[in-house]
Amino acid sequence: MAPEPLPNVLEITPYVPGLSLETGYKLSSNENPLGCSPAARDAALQGLTQLEVYPDGGANLLRNAIGERYGIDPERIVCGAGSDEIFQLLARAYLQAGDEIIQSEHGFLVYQLVAQQSGAKTIKVPDVDMTAHVDGILSAVTEQTKIVFLANPNNPTGTYLPFEEVRRLHAGLPSNVLLVLDAAYAEYVSKNDYSSGLEMAGSLENVLMTRTFSKIYGLAALRLGWAYGPAKVIDAINRVRGPFNVNALAQLAGIAAIEDDGFTSKSAEFNRRELARLSEAIESTGLKVYPSVANFVLVEFPSEGDYTAEKADAALQKDGVIVRDVKAYGLPNCLRISIGVKEANDQVISTISTFMAAR
Ligand SMILES: *Cc1c(COP(=O)(O)O)cnc(C)c1O
Repeated sequence: MAPEPLPNVLEITPYVPGLSLETGYKLSSNENPLGCSPAARDAALQGLTQLEVYPDGGANLLRNAIGERYGIDPERIVCGAGSDEIFQLLARAYLQAGDEIIQSEHGFLVYQLVAQQSGAKTIKVPDVDMTAHVDGILSAVTEQTKIVFLANPNNPTGTYLPFEEVRRLHAGLPSNVLLVLDAAYAEYVSKNDYSSGLEMAGSLENVLMTRTFSKIYGLAALRLGWAYGPAKVIDAINRVRGPFNVNALAQLAGIAAIEDDGFTSKSAEFNRRELARLSEAIESTGLKVYPSVANFVLVEFPSEGDYTAEKADAALQKDGVIVRDVKAYGLPNCLRISIGVKEANDQVISTISTFMAAR
């Protein structure tokens, strides 16, 4: 008999990343169209001169830099190879067969994947207006619930839960349930009633906030993320992570990136302008654009006829634009379009306008 993996492993549907193009515009993975901080790039290049040396297993300088930037205790930060790795480590430390996690219906798919690896079940709670529904989540809690994952803002919907709603969610959870606030797009949000969860993760025993360098910092290739939360949770993650889980180039670039506020604000400002421009232009063709606070928009197409998401996707591809189909998120009539460089957004507007007008 051949070696057999665990049955729950065979149930996993592998994550399908955004498609790439040889030429044209890739608007399928929410990457930063402005690239990354030049200082971060220089730091990574500098790191190339010492490839024989193991990285700092504790990512100490990076955690100090993050701590300094946010005014938080570096001892309560742990870094990972992307926030995806943090989710995996959480599953390893907190989930086993029979356990449940809760996430929103159209929430980020990686949570479900990591739960499956541990044999845990994912309960998906219906959204209201494409937004996570606090009361729904609370009523889904059972004795088996171990983690509630909330992407805020959420990918792929682009919507967010105001601070007070996140507070209310936490207040309704049993104290043994870990609330993970995934704030991958926090730096893009400019709403007075939004909070990344930094204060909650700093003061509550069952709240963890995760962040990433893949989005506004433009360092997706290096795989770097971090989590901040109660000492006990950070300790558990540290016990299950690999001793050198974050590579040296990522650590060097991350330090430079987090110190380069100029690049971050330039990226946020560019995104604000282009997000508004793209949203308005697509809406003016008669399509539904969900209000986004992140660096992408979710566009809804009619479910049948000449204007379907599938046909729009084909038209965009023909014009050299790759966007994300979100069937796997239960949104077969939608496309998720990342904000790109100006010319890319121009192309999206032009293709969708022609597509909608031609029929
Ligand atoms: C992109 C994204 C992340 C970041 O993942 P990394 O592994 O850090 O690249 C995390 N959460 C959500 C919701 C995302 O969209």
